[in-house]
Amino acid sequence: MEITSKGADIRQLPYQELQDWLIGQGEPKFRAKQVFEWLWQKGAHSFDAMTNLSKPLRAKLEANFVIRPIQEDKVQKSSDGTIKTRYRLYDGHLIESVLIPVPEENRFTVCVSSQVGCSLTCKFCATGRMGRIRNLDAAEIYDQVLLVNQQSLSHFGHPLTNIVYMGMGEPLLTYRNVLESIRHISSPDGLNMSPKRITVSTAGIAKMINRLADDEVRFNLALSLHAADDNKRSEIMPINDQNNLDILMDAIANFYQKTGNRISYEYIALKGFNDSISDADRLAKLCRRFPVKVNIIEYNPIDGGEFERSEEDQLDRFARRLRDQGVMVTVRRSRGRDIDAACGQLANKGETAA
Ligand code: SF4
Repeated sequence: MEITSKGADIRQLPYQELQDWLIGQGEPKFRAKQVFEWLWQKGAHSFDAMTNLSKPLRAKLEANFVIRPIQEDKVQKSSDGTIKTRYRLYDGHLIESVLIPVPEENRFTVCVSSQVGCSLTCKFCATGRMGRIRNLDAAEIYDQVLLVNQQSLSHFGHPLTNIVYMGMGEPLLTYRNVLESIRHISSPDGLNMSPKRITVSTAGIAKMINRLADDEVRFNLALSLHAADDNKRSEIMPINDQNNLDILMDAIANFYQKTGNRISYEYIALKGFNDSISDADRLAKLCRRFPVKVNIIEYNPIDGGEFERSEEDQLDRFARRLRDQGVMVTVRRSRGRDIDAACGQLANKGETAA
C-alpha cells in the first residue's frame, strides 16, 4: 500500500488489518466495524466526522492515515435527463460517471469508470484515444456509485437500481480493484446492493473471463461484441487479435456454466460496417450456444472518427432479423448525446488532467 507523508490510504486497508491496527491501539474488536461503516456506508471524508469514536482515537487515525475521496468537478445535464459528472481524483486526474434515469421503468442506472483512460484503442471510442493513464482503486470506483446514488436521490427521489461498469477503461484490466469495489457495493457495511444489479462489461479478455468464472462471481457479464466475425472485429477492436471469437465464446460458455449469471452482448450499430442482414445472421448464430441478450446501441460519432450512426430503418431491420431467429434483443436509443455522455464518448473533452 502507498504511504504518503500524511499516512496510508485507510480505504486500501483490508478489514482484518484495520482491526489488528485498532486492537494494537488498545481498542475493542468491534471498533473496526464502526470505522468501516463510516468509511464505506456513510462515505465519511474526514476522521473528525466519525462522531461515535473518541476524540483521541480520531486524532490517532488522523495521524496515521488519509482518506482520499473523489471530488465532484463538473456536472452536465442532458435534455433527456441524463447527468454526466466529472470527478477529480486525489492526484488531479479526471474521470467521468453517468447517471441514466428511466423513471417510467423505475430504472436508475449509473455507468462507472474503472481506469483513467484506456489502453485498448477500440476505434469507435473516445476514451481509447486517451491511452491508459492509471487504474482506479476500489475506493475511487466505489465513490462514483456512492455519489451518483446521492445524485439520483436528490434529483429523482429514487436510489440507483443498476450499476454498469461501462465507463472509461477496461474493468477486467483492473480486476482486483473492480472485484473489491463490488464487494463493498454489495456488502451490508457498504451500499448493500445486490450483485444481480451489477453488470461488468468487457471488450473481451478471455483469460480474465475464465478467472471470473473460477471466482464464481455473482454479478452479470456484458461482452462488447460489436461485430460477429473476426475480421471485422479485429478491425475495430485490436484486442480481438489475441482473443478471437472462438476463444471468447469458450470463455463465456465457461462463465455461464460456472456462475449461471446473466450474459449480454453489446453491439454498437455502425452504418454500412456491421448492420447488414448477413451481420445479423452471423450474430444470431453466436447467440445459440447459451442464453444471451443482445443490446443494440445507437452509435454516437466521435470527433474525427470514421464511423457513422446506422439509419433507423436499417437498425430496425437488423433487430427484427435477430428476433425472427429467437434472439432476445433491445435497441438502446442514445442517451445524453448533447453532453457527450453517451456510449464511447467519455473522454474529458476539452480538458486535460493535471
Ligand atoms: S470501448 Fe471500452 S475497452 Fe474499448 S477503448 Fe473504449 S473504454 Fe477501452
